[in-house]
Amino acid sequence: MARIVMKFGGTSVANLERIHNVARHVKREVDAGHEVAVVVSAMSGKTNELVDWVQTMPKVAGAASPFYDAREYDAIVASGEQVTSGLLAIALQSLGINARSWQGWQIAIKTDNAHGAARIQDIDGSDIIRRMGEGQVAVVAGFQGIGPDNRIATLGRGGSDTSAVAIAAAVKADRCDIYTDVDGVYTTDPRIEPKARRLKKVAFEEMLEMASLGAKVLQVRSVELAMVHKVRTFVRSSFEDPDAPGMGDVLNPPGTLICDEEEIVEQEVVTGIAYAKDEAQISLRRLADRPGVSAAIFGPLSESHINVDMIVQNISEDGSKTDMTFTVPSGDVDKALQVLSDNQEKIGFDVVQSEKGLVKVSVIGIGMRSHAGVAATAFRALADKGINIKAITTSEIKISILIDGPYAELAVRTLHSCYGLDKA
Ligand code: ASP
Ligand code: MG
Repeated sequence: MARIVMKFGGTSVANLERIHNVARHVKREVDAGHEVAVVVSAMSGKTNELVDWVQTMPKVAGAASPFYDAREYDAIVASGEQVTSGLLAIALQSLGINARSWQGWQIAIKTDNAHGAARIQDIDGSDIIRRMGEGQVAVVAGFQGIGPDNRIATLGRGGSDTSAVAIAAAVKADRCDIYTDVDGVYTTDPRIEPKARRLKKVAFEEMLEMASLGAKVLQVRSVELAMVHKVRTFVRSSFEDPDAPGMGDVLNPPGTLICDEEEIVEQEVVTGIAYAKDEAQISLRRLADRPGVSAAIFGPLSESHINVDMIVQNISEDGSKTDMTFTVPSGDVDKALQVLSDNQEKIGFDVVQSEKGLVKVSVIGIGMRSHAGVAATAFRALADKGINIKAITTSEIKISILIDGPYAELAVRTLHSCYGLDKA
């Protein structure tokens, strides 16, 4: 017997038929004798609709500013999950399963006060554990908890992944199964490279890089949480027949296991190729080379909530002037340029140049730590295809390369094959 938390995303609960299908997945595990708790998202599209209503209300009411109260935003957008938790409980009861829905405040999933982007601080799992022992299935509304002000707080978009991992940690589950509309994590985006392979296992750290680099299978925070609490997390599809052979396999269910690197015996050097579109490059030319320049540049940018990613500074040729290049999302370029020009005197640069529409491709793998020449292989392969590199950053387990947008797909395919990731 295992203790399993099963999470179903928006497309998996998109309509009543799909919710019935989800109930069959849950029934399979219950019938096998496992202790089960379930976490659900809102029906796909629902949260967007609710957010849109929140944003439109002040306009309709003739308010002078588009401002709305974040606590009311949370009260409204959390309702999508409330509906699916109740519907799934009814579907389970119809299949003869003892099930009950739970809202975040009933458990309680305690969060901080950051309404709209709250963080979970504490979950008391004892009641869910007791009920699981009695054969009851808790169907928990994801994405929500209760803040110190005793009001509903939501966890940020995509937050029900984080709810699921947090509950798995709180009830000490053997596994957290994230059911979604893809059947696992791939070596790269299969829409770009049809030869991409589904990974059997991927380390938490690698998944963190892939998720934050635009491989949007899981909310990044859920992976961080899984890493901290060592929650073994499976990404798998809810669209397969719940009773197909192998679906109930306890040790190796179909999908990708995200786990501690110690569990990965045959570590490849490179695990995957990720990419992030719509990057922009900003370069400050003839910048004073003295203590405090970086702080003078990146302080005001961060105060303006501009997310700076790659940063490259040249070693000064003459000891007095240098160049600094960094990337921001294309959508933030105009704001960033404004902030820089407002601070030009304080920073002390001559001209600023910018370019939008760039792409960052990244090679990821914990095996890189112990292998030389991984970066050189990428540079050679890109050069052979005539792809120009604009900037490079590296970490222990990642090499990121900035290139012109139109070369994105070619670069992804080239890197995927040069590390032998193509399926046979
Ligand atoms: N329903 C929420 C959203 O769309 C949470 C989630 O799906 O994870 O962001
Ligand atoms: Mg999601």
